[in-house]
Amino acid sequence: MIIETVLCQRCKKIDAVLCSRKEYFCPVCFEKFVSLKQRKQMMSDNYFQDIFKVIYGDKLRSVEEASTMNRESRVLVPLSFGSSSLLTLDILHGILKEQFTVHRGTVGFTLDAVTCCRYQEMGEVRRRLHKLRDRYSDSGVEIKFHLIDLDKAFETCNDHIRIVLNDSTFSSRYVALERLQKVSMSDVLKECGGKSAQEDLVTAFTDRIVKDFAQRGNYKAILWGHSMTRLADEVISLVVKGRGAQIADTLNTSDFDESFGGEFKPLYPLRDVLLSEVDALCHLKGLAPLLYKYAPNYSLLLVRPSEADKITPKPKYLPKNMTINGLARKYFDDIEDNYSNVISTVVRTGAKLAPPTCEVDNAPNCTLCRSMIYKDAPGWLQSITENLGHPIEDDADFQLYEAWSKSQLGEVHADYIELTGDFQRRGDDALLCYGCITTVLSSSTKSLVWINSDKQDALDDISRYILTDEED
Ligand SMILES: [Zn+2]
Ligand SMILES: [Zn+2]
Repeated sequence: MIIETVLCQRCKKIDAVLCSRKEYFCPVCFEKFVSLKQRKQMMSDNYFQDIFKVIYGDKLRSVEEASTMNRESRVLVPLSFGSSSLLTLDILHGILKEQFTVHRGTVGFTLDAVTCCRYQEMGEVRRRLHKLRDRYSDSGVEIKFHLIDLDKAFETCNDHIRIVLNDSTFSSRYVALERLQKVSMSDVLKECGGKSAQEDLVTAFTDRIVKDFAQRGNYKAILWGHSMTRLADEVISLVVKGRGAQIADTLNTSDFDESFGGEFKPLYPLRDVLLSEVDALCHLKGLAPLLYKYAPNYSLLLVRPSEADKITPKPKYLPKNMTINGLARKYFDDIEDNYSNVISTVVRTGAKLAPPTCEVDNAPNCTLCRSMIYKDAPGWLQSITENLGHPIEDDADFQLYEAWSKSQLGEVHADYIELTGDFQRRGDDALLCYGCITTVLSSSTKSLVWINSDKQDALDDISRYILTDEED
């Protein structure tokens, strides 16, 4: 097949390699196009400007003070080895390298990356971390890589609780587990109803670890890799999961994250870049071999890269048992080529949302996901649910009831009644948001083990599980 060459529409000198938003780009101009969008977000307000720019001694501050400020501008990138977080890190590394050269050895910020993964993924992830470290090794600037084993962190945290949901009042109680009782993340997930609920729990835990890590490490900003497409699927998934109240807080980059000590702000530097653009640039920058558990979309490239053959083609029909996030991602993936304006509209509309008015006293945090609770979800659920079963009237009813009681379902139910009674006597109230109530409801025992979020030191020991780049 002969492909007609097209000149890049920006520099008008080099052959174009891809077409995005109806414009042809060469590799150099495309990288500039994307990294300018990232830099624009990073300079979006004074707080972030102060973090990223190189500060010099002047009338206001001494040389020592300036150098301390530069050093204390600590930035954290949660690195999942999807295309977006990988690219975010790579562009940030590029900025550091540029500052190092232009400002003769001085840089404006310190860059760390943290990867959280399940125990069984550690080997693959560690291999990629080493490759990434090698990639940056002769650039003169240092990036610290941290690796956290989610299973270990969960298992060894100090305070586990069991939460039980009352299925007629929808209120919850919790009891602290014995300290010596070992609970693994896999056990918790096994108890959980479906894939969506499992994904939700892993996300809630990862989110918590990353933010906890940021707070303990005195980071000033967490730079999430989310592309515009990924943010759109987050917005829609939150709505579908009944977590719409969290949208405003999730997209808020102007305020400090109060639920974690209020010392850092989140930022989404790639929020103006489409996922297919991120994927294309990852390929052009040679980052594609580092991707993990992620199938990039090369639809923008004019010549299909050889590595694209290794990607399993996306199924034509919806696979069964997809998670809500998976479905939303597939939807936006499908429309990205022709209807990218829908994606930016979803993100822009989401960003305009304000948090709902709080109808609960003292605005508590959810015991499970830690997001703010604005409404009395149990009260609302009670008002729309009929919970009382039909009374037993005759022998036939009675026989059916007897048979059910002796069945596995009946036995699980009897255990459940015993558990709720016990927790009513000795437990404490747990407050759950609507989304987490549905997560707990989906488990067969209507209960699950989690970490006590009231105890700030629950994850104290986590530093033991951080592998820095000195370790091989
Ligand atoms: Zn060009
Ligand atoms: Zn929750």
